[in-house]
Amino acid sequence: MGGLEQVWNGRFLVLLLLMPTVLGWGPEGHYTTCKIAEGYLGKDAVAAVKDLLPASAEGDLASLCSWPDDVRKTPQYRWSADLHFADTPDFKCNYEYCRDCHDFYGNKDRCVTAAIQNYTRQLIKSESKYNLTEALIFLSHFVGDAHQPLHMGFVGDLGGNIIKLNWYDEQTNLHRVWDDKIIESALKKFYGSDLKVMIQAIQRKITNNWSDDITFWEQCSNNSIACPDRYASESISLACKYAYINATRGSTLGDDYFISGLPVVEKRLAQGGVRLAAILNRIFARKIRIAQA
Ligand SMILES: [Zn+2]
Repeated sequence: MGGLEQVWNGRFLVLLLLMPTVLGWGPEGHYTTCKIAEGYLGKDAVAAVKDLLPASAEGDLASLCSWPDDVRKTPQYRWSADLHFADTPDFKCNYEYCRDCHDFYGNKDRCVTAAIQNYTRQLIKSESKYNLTEALIFLSHFVGDAHQPLHMGFVGDLGGNIIKLNWYDEQTNLHRVWDDKIIESALKKFYGSDLKVMIQAIQRKITNNWSDDITFWEQCSNNSIACPDRYASESISLACKYAYINATRGSTLGDDYFISGLPVVEKRLAQGGVRLAAILNRIFARKIRIAQA
């Protein structure tokens, strides 16, 4: 747990302040996904999560869900930087594990979907050689990332990172619009800049508007514990249908783009949260079954 404790001790604080917060839902998005997940955890998973988290988190998974973004640029965790996304060929608008899951150097199985499977396996096996606290936090973060449509964006524009444009009157890039800007604007315009209020609104939508979809969101074929390839396929499809539309270099995105993008962002945060809870419930229920056998 060395890395996490160091962060909490504030030793990396200066470093963190200097690091750009690119790639991955921003801190609000990750906090939201994990907060939503907390509401759907069964009692086995609640207990297991509390056991694995550092005491300073006081059982609150959401408080640590951005940690992998905070450390990705540090020497100790640089290896993890390629695990936050899986870009796809330009304009193909689909995702294929064998084709798309590799790092910058072409090393296979180094991408967000492989990382989700890897940390799921570690938590199930629960062997002492693994750092299970980090496995839990990486898994929780990466399930969120897999739901951000531009984490499966086009290779040619680095998932929208090199599409420089304006969000209203602010210069940014397309990737950041989907990581942070849509959420930040929604917070200001609709939720009195209070993240708690936004999370409650999404929770209400899950209960009122999407309750019939929850079982389908949670399911994985073949009794799999997690099915990240499905989350990735949905993401690139949404990127092509919404994120890349009218978002060319130098363009200015405003109300029209915000109004079409916000429902997508809110639903992806909801799906990420519900699915993370389903994955953790399956992992920890299975462990208890095995322990009792
Ligand atoms: Zn990330």
